[in-house]
Amino acid sequence: MNEALLQFIWQYSLYKPTALQTADGETLTIIYCGKLNRDAGPDFTEAKVKVGSTTLVGNVELHIKSSDWLKHGHQNDTAYKNLVLHVVYENDVSDVAGNIPVLELKKHIPQDVLVRYTGLMHAPQKLPCAGQHERIKSITKEGWLSRLLAERWEQKLGDWNVLLENSAEDWRNLLYWRTAANFGFKTNATPFLMLAQSLPLNIPTKHKDNLMQIEALLFGQAGMLEDDFVDDYPRELQREYDYLRKKYKLKPIAGHLWKFLRMRPANFPTVRIAQFAALIHKSLHLFSQIIETHSVKEIEPLLDVTASSYWDTHFQFDSAQEQRSPKSLGKSSIQNIIINTIAPIQFLYAAKQDTYKLQEKALQLLESVPAEKNNITRLWEENGWQAVNAAQSQALLQLYNNYCSSKRCLECTIGLNIIKAPN
Ligand code: SF4
Repeated sequence: MNEALLQFIWQYSLYKPTALQTADGETLTIIYCGKLNRDAGPDFTEAKVKVGSTTLVGNVELHIKSSDWLKHGHQNDTAYKNLVLHVVYENDVSDVAGNIPVLELKKHIPQDVLVRYTGLMHAPQKLPCAGQHERIKSITKEGWLSRLLAERWEQKLGDWNVLLENSAEDWRNLLYWRTAANFGFKTNATPFLMLAQSLPLNIPTKHKDNLMQIEALLFGQAGMLEDDFVDDYPRELQREYDYLRKKYKLKPIAGHLWKFLRMRPANFPTVRIAQFAALIHKSLHLFSQIIETHSVKEIEPLLDVTASSYWDTHFQFDSAQEQRSPKSLGKSSIQNIIINTIAPIQFLYAAKQDTYKLQEKALQLLESVPAEKNNITRLWEENGWQAVNAAQSQALLQLYNNYCSSKRCLECTIGLNIIKAPN
């Protein structure tokens, strides 16, 4: 037994409710278990219980042992004054909390609840509920996925909101920063964001008709133009960057921040920077276009860019490939940007405008993108839970990363249904 499990059993009434008695032998009826309090103070507030013939409304505190009351120093804490019930797993010391009625729960907890909980906590598989979640109703699962997606966006958009406030509510800037980070995908998201933050958007925008200058600015600020090159193309970029750097008093980020190891060459940051330059070159009013467009079919062409011709035969400077292969962003990368940047930014924009209809559209956009394929979605798939679209794959990522991997099954709707429901 631990406090989290005891709270869970209390919150979801997983004990046998019949013939409850206080430690003093009075009959006890739980009318309302109370509202779980995650802050300081009693564990549950606004509970309603009937002791003998008296109905009491107030707080409830839970402990594994009644003596924990003293260990935690509640006897001197005024926050515990309005207690109507002290629920303990084991009443090892009598009357520790004065006149507050005590309920010992140990003998009321069904053994199978504990067995199912222990089964989840000690499951050796990556997904502790593998083989058990299949029997949970689809409607329950779908509702839980919606809440997980909301939680994921709340976490993500909270940080974006700070970025937005730091840039005087400049939405174009936010889109520029977040798209840059997205072009870095998982491995190079941080240096890509640093690169964009080191180069104010108005500078590449001033040069947007000249792709070579945009590339010079981006590669130069990325710290990638500091070698002695052989090819003409990087040498030209160097010359251009030297001029622009002085003109705008720019300071590049450190080139060693970029990672190339264990990456497919098509994802090398050099290729991604060249594609990002092509996007800036191509898009005149990207933010207004993106904020007003809610269909994948219309957004895909906006993001469909190809790196300049030097990159047709290169993945890195001075290192030619044998075969020519133009470096287009590709459908799955475009979908990744819609999932991770466009739909969330549309949602944040709509939320800031207080426009419910537009928030719905941002969600619908996500639902119209196919589910992502990665190690986590594959793990769910192998275990019988296949996401039908990107909204669900995002929710399943949130579930695995934030709940399953740290065994937070007690805070998960699937866990609740498995522990409370008999097989
Ligand atoms: S957190 Fe939920 S979904 Fe994940 S393993 Fe536990 S019960 Fe299953």
